[in-house]
Amino acid sequence: MGLLVVGSIGLDDIETPFDKIQNALGGSTTYISLAASYFTGPVSIVGVVGSDFNYEHIKMLENHNVDLEGLQIVEGARTFRYGCRYHYDLNVRDSLFTHLNVFEHFKPVIPERNRKSSFVILGNIAPSLQLNVLDQLESPKFIVCDTMNFWINGAIDDLFKVLKRVNVLIINDSEARLLAKEPNLIKAAHKISKMGPEYLIIKKGEHGALLFGDNTIFSAPAYPMENIFDPTGAGDAFAGGFTGYLHKNRDFSFSNLKRAVVYGSVMASFCVEKFSTKGLEDLSFLEIHNRFLEFKELSSFS
Ligand code: AMP
Repeated sequence: MGLLVVGSIGLDDIETPFDKIQNALGGSTTYISLAASYFTGPVSIVGVVGSDFNYEHIKMLENHNVDLEGLQIVEGARTFRYGCRYHYDLNVRDSLFTHLNVFEHFKPVIPERNRKSSFVILGNIAPSLQLNVLDQLESPKFIVCDTMNFWINGAIDDLFKVLKRVNVLIINDSEARLLAKEPNLIKAAHKISKMGPEYLIIKKGEHGALLFGDNTIFSAPAYPMENIFDPTGAGDAFAGGFTGYLHKNRDFSFSNLKRAVVYGSVMASFCVEKFSTKGLEDLSFLEIHNRFLEFKELSSFS
């Protein structure tokens, strides 16, 4: 059974200190499915867009073997839109606007043939929608979940319900502090683990990622990037690479989860090299694997 991804598909306005772009393809599902498509396929997505969504984006996703049967297109409505501005320190961004548009009345419908999916990524959308998706699945075995400050601040009760049902939660360091109400990341991780997830991954932007689980911590290095153009989607690319790799080999040992974290970091590093989804559109598995080996080299010592 394929990998099912539910989340946002949107159009982003992004400003960095070096450039800006409007109406760029974005959304959690978009980045996740592109990143995962290099490991496994087809990746099936469930989401919604309006009639202002460009057909070229749909073609590009199809070219990556993304199954779009679960994509709803609402005539006369506007696609989800998000705007943000990055600081000179690209780890810090201010959200400028979040226009839910088609998401306001969205009811996810999982196509019949995807209801048996055992691997699911709940991308960043309203926790109530994430719950709705879980309720439609017959017996999901491995559920990976992402969220963000917008939902931690605005829908915490539903988010707590989601966390009780997921295997892996992937969030960034500031979201972990906010969710746990705890400034120390290790203490925050212990508090969040008690909320439900078996494994917790805390991404630290350009400083790598931490994996917590099995009473152990793994610290993945960060790739020393000289050219970061647009950090948008890095977290989603991470989730797609991490889960896509696990979906391919179905090995849930802690040592394989560590490799999956590094493949997630590899996909995030490609994502930030170009604006919007461009960094994930034309990769080869050889490039991905070579960067994985560079990551290995970076952190091996005796
Ligand atoms: P990331 O940089 O990994 O946090 O993901 C950025 C993507 O998430 C952007 O392309 C946005 O379109 C999307 N996004 C931002 N805010 C939200 C939100 N509140 N709900 C769903 N998706 C969002």
